[in-house]
Amino acid sequence: MRALLVIADGLGGRPTDWGDATCLARARTVHLDRLAREGALGLMDPIAPGVRPGSDTSHLAIFGYDPAEVYTGRGAFEALGIGLDVRGGDVCFRANFATVKEQDGKLVVHDRRAGRLAEGAQLAEALETVDLGDPEVSFTFRASTEHRGALVLRGPRLSSEVTDTDPHVEGAAVTSCRPLADSAAARRTAKLVNTFSQKAYECLREHPANSMRREEGKPEGNALLLRGAAAMPHLSPVTEQYGVQGLCVAGGALYKGVARAAGLEVLQVDGATGDLKTDLRAKAEAAWRALDKAGFVFVHIKGTDNAAHDGSSLEKTRFIERIDGEFLAVLEERLREGDVVLCFSGDHTTPPAVGEHTADPVPALFWGPPVRPDGAAGFDETAAGTGGLGRFSGRLVPQLLGYCDLGGKFGA
Ligand SMILES: [Zn+2]
Repeated sequence: MRALLVIADGLGGRPTDWGDATCLARARTVHLDRLAREGALGLMDPIAPGVRPGSDTSHLAIFGYDPAEVYTGRGAFEALGIGLDVRGGDVCFRANFATVKEQDGKLVVHDRRAGRLAEGAQLAEALETVDLGDPEVSFTFRASTEHRGALVLRGPRLSSEVTDTDPHVEGAAVTSCRPLADSAAARRTAKLVNTFSQKAYECLREHPANSMRREEGKPEGNALLLRGAAAMPHLSPVTEQYGVQGLCVAGGALYKGVARAAGLEVLQVDGATGDLKTDLRAKAEAAWRALDKAGFVFVHIKGTDNAAHDGSSLEKTRFIERIDGEFLAVLEERLREGDVVLCFSGDHTTPPAVGEHTADPVPALFWGPPVRPDGAAGFDETAAGTGGLGRFSGRLVPQLLGYCDLGGKFGA
């Protein structure tokens, strides 16, 4: 048996302002409804009843980890997601190329995003020459999209308990990194961050790509602003726990990062953008091919949450219909080859009327040869509330791999 987990971000909803049905109930979902009639449903509290989850903590819980124990912040998963090698104990920062100008001995931020420059990769290459002045500590920096990037510090006795250097407003000076804890590790990390920031500025201001931007009248990417220090937790990969190969199809860096932390390999899928414009057919085809290679495939689809954060019930409903008509329609034939167990769910509820994640439980569907059908008529929050799987917290992956008879026995 092969396991396919599909997470539509922010899938759960509340009755909408234009009727009493949720977006999921309102959407025309031929394939989802058919799979629901043949499968079993339940309601999932991503972390625990009444806890309003972030996407990062809920995904950790979905993969079977205890977020209260392992969660250290979003930065580590973002850094992993953009392809940096991040290991347990590393301290990660999210970074922006920014435009700064020297005024009264300070570096004042003029554009926090350096005009959303496109030369991030070139600039990042030049940073490799930066010397932190501490032989025990190394760093890697990688640029991602536009002005964004991530920094990873590796070495003994580092701490994530340090402040941002990003002042978060334009017109203010770049902030000196300060320790947030009274520890040698926090003081040492703050000092390293300040050394890195100063040397990065010295290296970037002379960079030919910035000279060119200056000549073209564009804002230079002459400084790096760092924020959201997070230590990478030591996670035991799901793939090792269950002895299964795992592949991931996702657009957003955060989800790729959680998948990598859980031991999955992330596939490069052209057109998978992590927003409403994503190519759902390309994702379905990638998932199809992945199922021929690996025992566990995780697909993340972000658009449902984006539409809900934008406050649009109509967009969310339409996007759910696209998941059904463009993603599941392509995959259903592969699912019916008889060797796949599917779990389709969300990572939290995002009602468009609220525009934020709420603590409401999320509908979950399990389908496949070993799953006992529970007589559901279709897939929505109400049907899931009367489903045979009842109400449970997170742990979709352990349940899914359990149906596939993977994992050891607890007890004799
Ligand atoms: Zn989410």
